[in-house]
Amino acid sequence: MRVLVTGGAGFLGSHLCDRLIEQGHDVLCLDNYFTGSKKNVEHLAGNPRFELIRHDVTEPILLEVDRIYNLACPASPVHYQYNPVKTIKTSILGAVNMLGLAKRVRARILQASTSEVYGDPSVHPQTEEYWGNVNPIGIRSCYDEGKRVAETLFMDYHRQNKVDIRIVRIFNTYGPRMHPNDGRVVSNFIVQALQGKDITVYGDGQQTRSFCFASDLVEAIMRAMEQTESVGPINIGNPGEFTILELAEKVIKLTGSKSRIVKEPLPADDPKQRKPDISKAKKILDWEPSVNLEDGLKKTIDYFRAI
Ligand code: NAD
Ligand code: UDP
Repeated sequence: MRVLVTGGAGFLGSHLCDRLIEQGHDVLCLDNYFTGSKKNVEHLAGNPRFELIRHDVTEPILLEVDRIYNLACPASPVHYQYNPVKTIKTSILGAVNMLGLAKRVRARILQASTSEVYGDPSVHPQTEEYWGNVNPIGIRSCYDEGKRVAETLFMDYHRQNKVDIRIVRIFNTYGPRMHPNDGRVVSNFIVQALQGKDITVYGDGQQTRSFCFASDLVEAIMRAMEQTESVGPINIGNPGEFTILELAEKVIKLTGSKSRIVKEPLPADDPKQRKPDISKAKKILDWEPSVNLEDGLKKTIDYFRAI
């Protein structure tokens, strides 16, 4: 098949491009390089089945494709808050443009949604039925609400125009090719530990997250694209739940670092807990994560050490 990956030069998009090429597909990787980099896909550059397109999803584009993975959107709070108006435009206009393309060329399209649609959740663990607890006017809203509107657009294009859609709600995912200055917790802690700098725990560190390794995530979203049982949202993540303090301690142990843990103020609207209920993914995708946090962290540490 001919497959378009928007945000394909980013952390997750580049791993997805790798797997699609491995499976024998033609891959069009589209990116505006805001947080992604040509470096992430430079090893694919000589491959005749791989094409790189510099383009911004807020502008329409016409391409002949069979599948569209819509991943274009900054994912780290630091990056999505840098230009919040652009972030929400990327989610909403990007969804409109990619859905319009899917409709026109009759491609199947998958949206990379997020656990952030659950906001600061009062239901734990989060199931797909939970509608969420999102602040519509806070500093995270450009991302959360943008992704929520994108889901609405996907469902409405499906109901109104019969566009063949899929939606995955991705929970915190980490691994090689995260940007060293990405600002998310796993890359921050590893880079700080390797450089012997203080490990910055925001708040009391008792907030929880569930961390999924990139290869597990990519496998799940490819299965989500090809299954025909559900067009609605499917949670993808690793249900192992850790406090941020536990994560800091693990990173210190695995790097053998002498870094100290320091506390910094908790950013506004930071969710207190997060853990996916992945029953739907298990049933529909016959999938569950296979890489535990310690093994995934070791691989990620090796990557950051090398660069
Ligand atoms: P990333 O920042 O590494 O990748 C995003 C990519 O999109 C980058 O290559 C960036 O340059 C590109 N991009 C941004 N705005 C664009 C625009 N207007 N036009 C074209 N390209 C644009 O982040 P990631 O972790 O790889 O996330 C990929 C997708 O998965 C995002 O949609 C994100 O919301 C979603 N997601 C990721 C996580 C996670 O933990 N990694 C969790 C939930 C959802
Ligand atoms: N966090 C932290 N130190 C950092 C970066 C993040 O303690 O250097 C915390 C952050 O406040 C949040 C958790 O780690 O509670 C996960 O943050 P991240 O930005 O990775 O993802 P998200 O908040 O979107 O889940």
